[in-house]
Amino acid sequence: MTNQIDTNSLLRVEDLKTWFPAKNNSLLPTEKKFVKAVDGVSFELKQGETFGLVGESGCGKTTIGKTILRLEKATAGKVLFEGKDVFSLNRQELKGFRQKTQMVFQDPYSSLDPRMTVEKIIQENMIIHKAYSKEEREARTEKLLEDVGLAGFHARRFPPELSGGQRQRVCIARALSLNPKMVVCDEPVSALDVSIQSQVLNLLMDLKNSYGLSYLFIAHGMAVVKHISDRIGVMYLGKMMEISPKSELYAQPLHPYTQALLSSIPIPEPGLKRERIILKGDVPSPLNPPTGCRFHTRCKFARPECRECEPCLREIAKDHFVACHLYDDAPEVKKTEQEENKE
Ligand code: SF4
Repeated sequence: MTNQIDTNSLLRVEDLKTWFPAKNNSLLPTEKKFVKAVDGVSFELKQGETFGLVGESGCGKTTIGKTILRLEKATAGKVLFEGKDVFSLNRQELKGFRQKTQMVFQDPYSSLDPRMTVEKIIQENMIIHKAYSKEEREARTEKLLEDVGLAGFHARRFPPELSGGQRQRVCIARALSLNPKMVVCDEPVSALDVSIQSQVLNLLMDLKNSYGLSYLFIAHGMAVVKHISDRIGVMYLGKMMEISPKSELYAQPLHPYTQALLSSIPIPEPGLKRERIILKGDVPSPLNPPTGCRFHTRCKFARPECRECEPCLREIAKDHFVACHLYDDAPEVKKTEQEENKE
């Protein structure tokens, strides 16, 4: 999928694999088995962009986020951040990388230390990285609280005294404390009440503009990523199935899995209903994924070749990539000479 590369790219993920060793229940003691959580995924995040990564639970999207930030060890592949190979950074370079990249976790209850005040939580990274003087840290904490919609008195509160939405605002303030360039948002609203979710999403969108951020936004629901993303990647069982600009994906989803995910979003018009595509069966185990196309066990369009041969991700409309044999005859988008030279 090399023709997706852009010189404006902040992050490039190339054929990334993250496998975890599995317990060996086989009679052959030498046979090693792996849970292939992420199994050859490529995409890029452009400067100032929000790239939504979506798929059912267990498809590997959170593992991708953690591997990019070196919180999990990659088995193979490359991650380039600002053109530098993240997996070969030395200690000093890694420190710089940690300042420029942050993560907002799904659960604002477990990701904050209940014994620390909000002020200490927000200042912790600044102290570790020796980034600001005491006065600057205090002024910065005040500004961050204001920017995430909290009041000055919240600085002296402890997490158990805050609501779920307020805790997630603290997590966001902490993530912004070192002025990062990229934030990995791992399902940041899924643990919140529905009434609070859109407030936090709107806040993230405002902060993206005011802080000049780029987001890798992970979610399991198509409705959430639609709200915030510029482009979207759809994952299934450790593989990328489709990548497209948001508007095109929702108007013309190509992959049968994307079509099924989109069919579950209600249309906000009284009397109008979308035809729901119900996927049969469970998601297969990443310990023993199906051969060929990983989706073939649940796909109503599956052909004999789908069981044998894995489809590759091809660009069949401008910036629209799909991995499905249904489009094998569709011509790939040709690169211009200028695009080729850029690479
Ligand atoms: Fe379905 Fe075959 Fe396309 Fe896979 S490659 S999504 S099984 S039609």
